[in-house]
Amino acid sequence: MLSPGDNVLVDSGYCTHRERTLELLASPAGLDGEPLERLINTHCHSDHMGGNAAVVSAYGSRITIPAGEAKHVEPWTPQSAWMAEFDQRADPFHFDATLAAGDSFEGGGFEWEAHAAPGHDMDALMFFEPRHRILISGDALWENGMGCVWPEEGANPLIEAARESLARIEALDPAIVIPGHGAPFTGVEASIANVRSRLDAFERDPAKNARHVVKTMFVFALLDRGLMAVDGVASYLANVPCYGRLSQRFLARPPGELAPWLLEDLHRSGAVEVRDGMVRATATA
Ligand SMILES: [Zn+2]
Repeated sequence: MLSPGDNVLVDSGYCTHRERTLELLASPAGLDGEPLERLINTHCHSDHMGGNAAVVSAYGSRITIPAGEAKHVEPWTPQSAWMAEFDQRADPFHFDATLAAGDSFEGGGFEWEAHAAPGHDMDALMFFEPRHRILISGDALWENGMGCVWPEEGANPLIEAARESLARIEALDPAIVIPGHGAPFTGVEASIANVRSRLDAFERDPAKNARHVVKTMFVFALLDRGLMAVDGVASYLANVPCYGRLSQRFLARPPGELAPWLLEDLHRSGAVEVRDGMVRATATA
């Protein structure tokens, strides 16, 4: 049985980072010897649920996922459309329960509300603690951005959904946001305004959005893998279908030009560094 004081972990990182995740969890700043009764996912992308299996085997935690994500993980089909399409890898896990918008749960001595957070992932949830106004936002809002939103020509229902999620966050008026990537932050109005203007620009110019998605997906692939040979980037992009699809639909770029453009752009912005013929991301997951 779960009780109000139980420890809850939200999201578990990449499967390739499982040792680091377990180290952080066990550290004095983490559980420091306490049990971990529950693991809840904001959404089931590999950088959020990849470590679920490792956490369960270390702590025996119960896993709760957003109800809408159940279809992606049961039956477990790692080579199902989206994993194969995007090169997303995760260790298989089983969930014990689901959670939907409007539900609430207790954890860490607080009562948390689940709110819909569609856009980046249409089935994602975010978690709000109303007494202290703490929001665990997943990829619906980061301090300087949000998880990428798939481009569409013309009206884009995903961008519209992302705007609705931002309006929901605005109405909740969190004092502090714990995002899915980056450090906790305050001053949510500025972050929301920044993301709104980006979404407007992406809606006006889907090719700009597609370039952003290609760059983001590739940087996350580097974070997952650690390193990639510069010489191998072109064949990597050719082998992971989402890059070809985006490039063909939006970028009007011959396949051979994608890798040099991508590396040059990411290098110029400081998102990657190249050393000894290897490329790595400068940020951390
Ligand atoms: Zn995500």
